[in-house]
Amino acid sequence: MLVTRFAPSPTGRLHLGHAYSALTAWRAARDAGGRFLLRIEDIDPTRCRPEYEAGILEDLAWLGLDWDGPVRRQSDHLDDYATAIEHMRARGLLYRCFRTRKEVAAVIGDAPHGPVEAVRPGPHVADEEARLLASDRPFAWRLSLDRAREALGEEAWAALSFSETGQGPNGETGRLAARPETAGDVIVARKDAGVAYHLAVTHDDALQGVTQVIRGEDLFEATHIQRLIQALMGWPAPTYRHHRLLSGPDGRRYAKRDRSVTLAELRGDGVTPEQVRTRIGL
Ligand code: GLU
Repeated sequence: MLVTRFAPSPTGRLHLGHAYSALTAWRAARDAGGRFLLRIEDIDPTRCRPEYEAGILEDLAWLGLDWDGPVRRQSDHLDDYATAIEHMRARGLLYRCFRTRKEVAAVIGDAPHGPVEAVRPGPHVADEEARLLASDRPFAWRLSLDRAREALGEEAWAALSFSETGQGPNGETGRLAARPETAGDVIVARKDAGVAYHLAVTHDDALQGVTQVIRGEDLFEATHIQRLIQALMGWPAPTYRHHRLLSGPDGRRYAKRDRSVTLAELRGDGVTPEQVRTRIGL
């Protein structure tokens, strides 16, 4: 049975791009007689707000979407993520990172080939780590790609792949090799939240039995590292269907800052759900 989900972060009101994503996933589930889940990804304590969550529920209902089972709100399940993170830590897959963003940027800037995209600052040396721990400075946990590769073994590492039934930004489709190294040593537990996006999303997709992840192509790159986390944790691999991103008449992609295309604003202007569907081509 197809199980898919819409997983917005309540950091603003939904816009036409979200409507496209939500309707695409909802339709896929309904056409297949499957399940459509709604998950609120609110682990970022500084950007997420309850009123945005309320807005999401209101906007989706207005669009005519319904979802199966209760809404899963990630901030209600921080203990689940902590357990998964502890499991990774106990296997030696993680290292503490006390660095600030600026310090991380400096470490990368010092790399012999100049700035590289993948952030891999590496563990602190033992003395320094002990000193930082003693000073009570907050730290994040990063997933070490080196340790992950060792843990999986060369064969499994080389065979890491995922099935793309939609397409990535460059037309990537079919069975694709996963390239976790382009993401670097990602943070799995943030200093402030105790968990980070890649861990929470893969944890929940597995827990909720999601068989197909349907989302925008802006998250295509994230799939590579998420596939690694699934393999490390023994979680099943869903198939992926990334979709194109909608742009406005000016050719720019819709973003949360464009107030004019929020569903709330359109509704206030008297636009109907049918007109929204037409406008986004569904
Ligand atoms: N919460 C993420 C976002 O709002 C989406 C996560 C996902 O679909 O995997 O961009």
